[in-house]
Amino acid sequence: MKRIFNFLSPIKHLGDKNYSIVFPLLGTLSAVIILEFYAYIILGEPEAITTSAIFIFISLIIYFSFREGRRGGFIASIITISYYLYIIASREYQGERFVRGIETTVILAIIYFFLAAVIGWLKEVIDKLIEREANEKKRLETIFQQLPVGVVIADKNRKIVQANNRLNEIIGVKVPIGFQLGEGLIVSSISNGKPSTSDDDPLLQSLKTGKVVSNREFTITKNDHLVHLQVSAAPIKDRHNQTLAAASIISDITEQKNLEIRKDDFVNMASHELKTPLTSLKLYTEVMHRRLTKKNDKQLADIIKRAQDQLNRLQKLVDDLLDVSRIQTGKLTYTKERFNLSELVNETVEVLGETANSHNIIIEKTPNLQVHADRFRIYQVVTNLITNAIKYSPSNSEIRIQLIKNDSHALVRITDQGIGIPKEEHDKIFERLYQVFKTADKKSPGFGMGLFISKEIIERHKGKIWVESKLNEGSTFCFTLPLAKRQVRT
Ligand code: ADP
Repeated sequence: MKRIFNFLSPIKHLGDKNYSIVFPLLGTLSAVIILEFYAYIILGEPEAITTSAIFIFISLIIYFSFREGRRGGFIASIITISYYLYIIASREYQGERFVRGIETTVILAIIYFFLAAVIGWLKEVIDKLIEREANEKKRLETIFQQLPVGVVIADKNRKIVQANNRLNEIIGVKVPIGFQLGEGLIVSSISNGKPSTSDDDPLLQSLKTGKVVSNREFTITKNDHLVHLQVSAAPIKDRHNQTLAAASIISDITEQKNLEIRKDDFVNMASHELKTPLTSLKLYTEVMHRRLTKKNDKQLADIIKRAQDQLNRLQKLVDDLLDVSRIQTGKLTYTKERFNLSELVNETVEVLGETANSHNIIIEKTPNLQVHADRFRIYQVVTNLITNAIKYSPSNSEIRIQLIKNDSHALVRITDQGIGIPKEEHDKIFERLYQVFKTADKKSPGFGMGLFISKEIIERHKGKIWVESKLNEGSTFCFTLPLAKRQVRT
């Protein structure tokens, strides 16, 4: 029954471009035979069917045009018109009746052909569009399946509607289509060192917020091995900007991660190995410098002094490398104490000594700001920001340091009149090993570790660090630190 309905329904044939000639031909001829049989045998009155025939054939022409396109409609129209002519001849129309019969047939022929043309053409256009969409879908499906990354799509009801095979390979489980996001996890994972919940899922977050979620890292266990995943998600919106669905892209970054871990291990080991001989060398040169100064050998003492400067730079590099490595492995520890931030800033400028002499460093009259923090690490941040201000601004220019009490925070601003930083680099300079390309010809080369370490230190103290700057218009580096609970009055 269903098959007969499917065969007869023109809707079921939308998109099907195998237009039949036989079916409209046989269909319309059968209608003619049935009508003639009805008129002559059942009614015994051949005249009785003329008006009802118009409605029956008009329906058949519409039906065949919609099912078989223009050709089907034309075949049905030709048979119908021929049948009308046959009626005129077989019923022996005479005189005015004959003329009216011919006139009506001509008018109906025009209407039928017009209907067949328009409906048939519409059907063919719809078929073409359906085919084009099906081809497009197939093309996208092929790309979707062949992508080197895993992709999963969820609809606005938070149900997974599509996932590619690569994703199944990456996570080692078949993603269940129809899975409801937010009700548990398909695979258990760890993010930021903690077991993740379904709320951490970027796909769910993207659906909830309608925003892009980029590059979240997760670790899962597959066949007793750790697999590192990088997951991003983006909403799919309609033309009214309403979120229809969201797609998540999952990349397996295990190899890259392992390489990074091996590289970090190597850097860590090498820096540790360098630290001991470096400390001894510094000690020897110090003794030599003292003895040569005592002997009044100024020339050799100066050479040793320069060697000491180079050793200090080398030590700073080794210390930074060790700090970066500790940050990467979560081993940078903090010993907090209460101290006066303003004193620390004054002290830092004093310790910088000769380095700071090349510039006019102005510390604005500062309030007493007590903070509870790791003194050495904050000193490291202030030193780094001031040395950068010196490094990236012309000699004798002004560097202004302000300390401001801001609600429950201390705000430190270090402003230089140097080369500045373009807006698009403002976030990037705080990334590991990042250096601004345009400032690559700077006088004192660095490695792009200082700001990365500073950001980590400040954020671990629940503070913020940022830069306000424009290219060639100087920079202001700012950071905040929460004030200690009870401030000492001055
Ligand atoms: P580096 O050792 O390269 O100075 P940092 O992490 O301290 O490393 O700084 C990263 C980059 O940010 C620098 O290479 C430089 O391009 C830019 N930068 C930092 N401070 C300043 C500044 N005060 N003025 C202009 N550019 C700066």
